[in-house]
Amino acid sequence: MKGQDILSEIASTSSGEFYTPLPKGYKAGKTKYVVVTGSVISGVGKGTISSSLCKLFQDRGLKVEPIKLEAYLNVDSGTLNPFRHGEVFVLDDGSETDLDLGTYERALDKDLRGENFVTSGKIYQRIIQKERAGKYLGRDVQFIPHVTGEIKLVLRNLAMETKADVIPIEIGGTVGDYENMFALEALRELRYEEGPENVCFINITYILEPNSLGEQKSKAAQLGIKRLLAMGIQPQVIICRSQTKLKESIREKMSLYLNLAKENVFGVHDVSNIYGLPLKLRKKGFDEAILRELNLEKKFKTNGNTALKDWTKKTSIQGKAKPVTIGIVGKYTGSNDAYISILKALEHCSFKLNRPVKAKWVDATDLEKKKLEKELKGIDGVIVPGGFGTRGIEGKIAVAKHCREKNLPYLGLCLGFQIALIEFARNVLNLKGANSTEFDPKAKEPVVCLLPEQAKIEGLGGNMRLGGRDVEVKPGTIASKLHGNAKTIRRRFRHRFECNPDYIPQFEKKGIVFSGKAPKVPIMQILEMPEHKFMMASQFHPELTSRPLNPDGLFLEFVRKSAE
Ligand code: GLN
Repeated sequence: MKGQDILSEIASTSSGEFYTPLPKGYKAGKTKYVVVTGSVISGVGKGTISSSLCKLFQDRGLKVEPIKLEAYLNVDSGTLNPFRHGEVFVLDDGSETDLDLGTYERALDKDLRGENFVTSGKIYQRIIQKERAGKYLGRDVQFIPHVTGEIKLVLRNLAMETKADVIPIEIGGTVGDYENMFALEALRELRYEEGPENVCFINITYILEPNSLGEQKSKAAQLGIKRLLAMGIQPQVIICRSQTKLKESIREKMSLYLNLAKENVFGVHDVSNIYGLPLKLRKKGFDEAILRELNLEKKFKTNGNTALKDWTKKTSIQGKAKPVTIGIVGKYTGSNDAYISILKALEHCSFKLNRPVKAKWVDATDLEKKKLEKELKGIDGVIVPGGFGTRGIEGKIAVAKHCREKNLPYLGLCLGFQIALIEFARNVLNLKGANSTEFDPKAKEPVVCLLPEQAKIEGLGGNMRLGGRDVEVKPGTIASKLHGNAKTIRRRFRHRFECNPDYIPQFEKKGIVFSGKAPKVPIMQILEMPEHKFMMASQFHPELTSRPLNPDGLFLEFVRKSAE
């Protein structure tokens, strides 16, 4: 029986054990699926490899629509602590997602939507809502077939809506976690229903190389993948991540023990430049192997790597220029993942300017008490990134003051915009009681206050001013110049507080130019101080829309000025 026949039979069975709702008009095989799982340990670059794969598919002319299935029960990432889970990446449609979505957007140079990110919480929420609405009347609602059916529906809906050639599905966590069991079971069913030529499983595993032995060991990887086999899933392609180049003998072992042709087992050892990874994988035959499994290798030929080579070259730094050191003043310092988009946005500038950029973490907590100047020594420019809550605020204000007075480049992002206002109000406007009502609800001079639309909201999930919005740029300003004289730009927001409109005239009188505003309401979105070497801030998050070959305008000028 072919995939479509199996599907038709299941769909026509109204009672019994099946529950496989299908979008109207769905046909097996129109969209193919590539499932990416991880084994042994997390954090070995599943997201990076998946996004490289997306890049490779896109380079061949396939329409790619990635989806991340995240195992946790939160409905989205909005309420997660970035220190534990990494940055919250906001999409244009306002979805608060995992940082992997940022990796995909940057690799594909394309905006994704909430449909590209699904948590177990989102799946369960839908099922409970359906149950309460009587949609399963008479049936006990079960993990199998209802949770698995809902997961397959989400994937097929995405396929129908986007008419993608291929949907790479990244499964959060590693094989063997309780949390992602149902997702894996759903995907096992998916391969059976769609047919083997329409679904390909990839496993990214890790080859240990203990110092005490000094050689590569594959047992953990074999056992990790055997957990997949025990669930009825045979991966078609395996990537062995390792510290050093994969030994041929290990490749042979993996092939032998896991029923795979050697040509479908790939080694990827640690690299310093991840932008070179797609081309490396191409040369090893990685995307070709997957397309072969999916019967697509004849339809989508490469362009001889020309475009990819060009991209790889443009995302690297030639020569040995002196690095620019950027201080990032935050609370979650030391955790790269908490500020990953900022680090990437800086990296994009480094390609354009051909100057390496080094980030230095500056912990804002208690900074006001520490020797601030000592902390900022050797730093060419300062970023005050987004953040919430009181801790470290006074330290950030002290840094903003230092930058303004010492003519040190300052880029404020969201909270960093509000910090610049508070500092200016206190020290230039002489409003000693200036603060944000977020940090002092009874502030005497509430120069930053709650957005009117936020005052009536209760609870903390998905209800900030979120997602992409238009920003009107004032002609003749620095911001206008940095954005190619565009009248409007679209940027992404995630905030509850704003510059209090009552104070705008005072700020403007003393030299702050609000060069970006919301079109219809008096929400200030970009500020600049024309007298300063570079003192700019935005209420939006420019780091979220910076792309490898198209760095954000504010970031680029900030790095350029810091490099001087
Ligand atoms: N806490 C501030 C607000 O809610 C800033 C938010 C942010 O930096 N993302 O407005």
